[in-house]
Amino acid sequence: MDIAIVGAGISGSNVLKSLITHPNFQADDLIDVYEPRQSLGSGLPYEPTDDESIMLNTSSDVLSVDENNELDFTEWLEHHFKEPTNFEQLVSRPHYGKYLVERFSPFYTHEQVRHVQNTVVDVEVLDAATKEPADDTQDGNFVYRIKTEDGWQDSVYDAVFFSVGHPEYNDFYDLKGTENYILNPYPMKEKLANFDNNQKISVVGSGATGVDLMRFFMSNYELEQPLTFYDLKEPFYCVAIPYEKDDFTYHLTKNWVEEQKEVHGGFIPLQVILDTIKDDLKQENAEPMAVYNRYKSGTLDVFRKAFDMKDQELAAVQKYAANSVPNLPHLYNALSGEDQQEYMKNYYQIMLFFKTKVPYYSYQWLFELIDAGKVETVAGLKEVNVLENGRFQFVTEDSEAEADIVVNATGFINNIEILTKHSELIKNLFHRRLIMPHVNGKFILVDWPQCRVLNQQYGRMDNLFFLGVLIGGTQHENNDAGQTIQQAQYTAKAFMDER
Ligand SMILES: Cc1cc2nc3c(=O)[nH]c(=O)nc-3n(C[C@H](O)[C@H](O)[C@H](O)COP(=O)(O)OP(=O)(O)OC[C@H]3O[C@@H](n4cnc5c(N)ncnc54)[C@H](O)[C@@H]3O)c2cc1C
Repeated sequence: MDIAIVGAGISGSNVLKSLITHPNFQADDLIDVYEPRQSLGSGLPYEPTDDESIMLNTSSDVLSVDENNELDFTEWLEHHFKEPTNFEQLVSRPHYGKYLVERFSPFYTHEQVRHVQNTVVDVEVLDAATKEPADDTQDGNFVYRIKTEDGWQDSVYDAVFFSVGHPEYNDFYDLKGTENYILNPYPMKEKLANFDNNQKISVVGSGATGVDLMRFFMSNYELEQPLTFYDLKEPFYCVAIPYEKDDFTYHLTKNWVEEQKEVHGGFIPLQVILDTIKDDLKQENAEPMAVYNRYKSGTLDVFRKAFDMKDQELAAVQKYAANSVPNLPHLYNALSGEDQQEYMKNYYQIMLFFKTKVPYYSYQWLFELIDAGKVETVAGLKEVNVLENGRFQFVTEDSEAEADIVVNATGFINNIEILTKHSELIKNLFHRRLIMPHVNGKFILVDWPQCRVLNQQYGRMDNLFFLGVLIGGTQHENNDAGQTIQQAQYTAKAFMDER
């Protein structure tokens, strides 16, 4: 069998490892990995050579890529570094990148694996019997040909795994191509290397990339003017409060999901999940809606109060949300269609509020920087304009300010139609009706839990898989490494089991 993997970040690398180590992997199987980067295994967020100041926001204990040893990364860190964590009690992302490259290297150097150092721009569906372009008969018997920037490749593949990861960054203010505008700040060591301390630098967005930018600029520059973060709403997510109690009541495990699906005849009513969360948190003396109402304004003032008092009720709900992360796609896919809608309408934002947070000691640093006048935050951004002199103008409801450099931290495009304007591959897959948008024009439609591509042209494509952030409508909230690893392993194993 000839297999193509497109993208060699943690998704593609876990697919590769799971294929090779599966008992059904044969001596004459060949795997081509298409990846334009030289570094194989790390992907965009964990570039091994990027700046050491950018940090993982998760514990090393949940980032092992060894199915048989969940502490493999933690042990690797202890072996390689005297002090694996920094003053924020976090591990640097380049450390994780080095670990990934090391652990996956035996698979990339495997004699049945070939690295094609190029970008894939198109895929053609062929009839498996004739190797001629397939019609739309939907009999599911397809093979694939791949086009890179160098043209169509000779190989014909029996299966293709798309693990292309992060799409382009949003460009909400139409600044792409403008001098001194950094659309995608990674790798930071390269893209943000040559500024002067007397330049005014402003950042649009204050999510995880924003926190990385705070770390990078404060570690590598002595800026003469404050680093300014602009956002539509109050900048920066909620502070993560460490929970100080050891034991914890938590029922929403994967086994619980399976049991409840059986009890309720297929779908779990949303109310059952909500009641379980409420009952569990009652045991921890926490009432989620009361905590949400206390902090939902999202201002730095309320977060400072939570920080100062180490609010344990907030900590309990955050811990509950963190425990739920690996199971979110399972919970979401266990809901009926109308309950999925009800959840998205009334509870999704609340879940995000508790799940998406900035580590405690990073916040301490942020508060210190704000108090020292080195960082400032501005809510209510309306416009970013380019002035005649090449500087940038920021307009909010009640203020105007300028900057020399603008760094974009507004997250990734997940709307497929918009993405077709930025990615040759997505444009061609969409044109061929191989991929279809999932919800409100966003994400790519796949089945669950195998992540096989679904479309109207060919039906379900049993040997064409899509993984990563672009299937977030199905693998709900799949934006962490743990989930990415688990899903890639599951999808590859399920494919090999069927062989
Ligand atoms: C900046 C950032 C920080 C993060 N920090 C954390 C964190 O601290 N903790 C955590 O748990 N999660 C974190 N995440 C989330 C999570 O770890 C990532 O979502 C995960 O790395 C995704 O892996 P991936 O393999 O799907 O994608 P990627 O890592 O993006 O890899 C995709 C690969 O595909 C290649 N590729 C793309 N297009 C093509 C093409 N057309 N042809 C060939 N190759 C292609 C790319 O070059 C890339 O190497 C972070 C994400 C980002 C973006």
